[in-house]
Amino acid sequence: MIFDGDVVLVTGGSRGIGRAVAREFAAAGATVVVQYRQDRQAAEKVLSELGPGAHIALQADVADPGQVQNLVESVVERLGGIGVLVNNAGVYERHPVPTTGYAEWQESWRRTIDTNLIGPANLVHRVVPHMIAAGGGRIVNVTSRGAFRGEPEHPAYGASKAGLNSLSQSLAQALAPHGIYVTTVAPGFVETDMAAPYLDGADGAAVRAQSPLGRAASPEEIARVIVFLASPGTEYAIGAIVDVNGASYLRS
Ligand code: NAP
Repeated sequence: MIFDGDVVLVTGGSRGIGRAVAREFAAAGATVVVQYRQDRQAAEKVLSELGPGAHIALQADVADPGQVQNLVESVVERLGGIGVLVNNAGVYERHPVPTTGYAEWQESWRRTIDTNLIGPANLVHRVVPHMIAAGGGRIVNVTSRGAFRGEPEHPAYGASKAGLNSLSQSLAQALAPHGIYVTTVAPGFVETDMAAPYLDGADGAAVRAQSPLGRAASPEEIARVIVFLASPGTEYAIGAIVDVNGASYLRS
C-alpha cells in the first residue's frame, strides 16, 4: 500500500471532491481524517465508506483560526502526526458587482477569503511544525480554473484561488528543504453540490460543452490526481499547479 497508515487530513471531506479524496487515500492504505464544518451525518457516512483503519471525522470551521489550531492538535493527539494535508474545503458565493449591496459584498469577500485562503494558510502554519518534526510531509491545495479564467460573478472566489495558487508556489520553495512537498490541483467544473446549480441549471449543457469531453469531471477524477501528487516519487512536481479541467480552459 502506498501510504501504509500515513495520516492524511482532508478538509471538506464530508462531501464532493473531499469525500472522493478520503476514499482514494483510504484505499491506498492511509489513515484518513475527514474534516467537516457542519454536516456530521455526511462525515460519518464517509467514514463508514472508508473500510478498516483508524479513520476519524472531526468538526472544525477552517475560517476560524482557533478551530484550525484545535483541529490540528486533535489529529496529532489522536493519531500521532500528519503526513499529508489536503486543503480542499471551500465556498463558492455569488456576488456580482452591479447587483450586490455593499454590506453583502463585504460579507462575501470576508467569508470567501477566510475560508478559501486564510484557512489553508493557517492549516499549513499549524501542520508544518509536526511535519518537520517527523522528517517531512506533503501538502496538496485545491484551487480552481477560475483563478485563471476569471470569475465574473464570484470575484472573491477567483481572487481567493489565485491567492492560494501563489501561496502554494511560495510554500513549495520554502518547505522543500524540510522534506515537505507542496503541489496544487486546479479543477474545472466537477459534479458536486457546489457546481450543481450551474450543471443542473438552464446553462448546464453549455457549461458541460466547455470541455471537448462534453461533461464535467467526476470527483474521483480530481481525487486521483491529488493522491498521485501526494505519492512518493512525485517530488519534482513541487510548485506545479495541475489543471484538471477537461481542456475547457488552456492557459499558456
Ligand atoms: P462542496 O461539495 O460544496 O463541499 C464543500 C466541503 O467543504 C464540504 O465538506 C463542507 O463541509 C466543507 N466546508 C465548506 N466551508 C467550510 C469551512 N468554513 N470550514 C470547514 N469546512 C468547510 O464542494 P466541492 O465541489 O467538493 O469543492 C471542493 C473544493 O474544490 C473547493 O475548494 C472548491 O473551491 C474546489 N473546486 C470545486 C469545483 C466544482 O466544480 N465543484 C471546481 C473547481 C474547484 P460541510 O459539508 O460540513 O458544509
